Amino acid sequence: MTAITLIQGDITQQSADVIVNAANSSLLGGGGVDGAIHRRGGPAILAECRDLRASRYGRGLPTGQAVATTAGELDARWVIHTVGPRFVPGEDRSRLLASCYRESLRVADELGARTVAFPAVSAGIYGWPIADAARIAVETVRATETDVEEVRFVLFDAQAYEVFAGQLART
Ligand code: ADP
Repeated sequence: MTAITLIQGDITQQSADVIVNAANSSLLGGGGVDGAIHRRGGPAILAECRDLRASRYGRGLPTGQAVATTAGELDARWVIHTVGPRFVPGEDRSRLLASCYRESLRVADELGARTVAFPAVSAGIYGWPIADAARIAVETVRATETDVEEVRFVLFDAQAYEVFAGQLART
């Protein structure tokens, strides 16, 4: 049974086996969570990301997939990078967003991770409305079979925290 917990704060300050990065497909850094993780985690993470681009993901990591690196100076063992879909009005891309959570947990299981901290993937620069992002995140984690003992959603601001709390209470 996986416990789902919520915390308001900066994901780069978390202590967990895995910190999930809302990356972009280049894996070479960006804004939001991605920028914060590389800033605080130091250059080792980016070096591994470059290696992944050179070896497995020449065209970038596809949307909805997830891949692990070590966590540099973060208080974690691994960073799992996943690429959320951009929100496109009128297009149902929710399966891709659900896939980010499912694939991240699959990779976490492969690593033997017990605690995984997620940001609200796609809910920043990629424009996903927070209520729908929260629903997909919580429903998908609840529906995924995993050995991970704690999934912690780390929400940056009070509003996102409240939306996730409401979603958790409902499902
Ligand atoms: P995406 O490009 O997938 O939308 P972002 O990083 O822009 O990713 O945003 C995803 C969510 O993470 C947003 O809700 C944003 O407010 C939040 N966020 C940004 N920085 C941090 C951080 N350091 N810790 C936790 N959440 C963060």
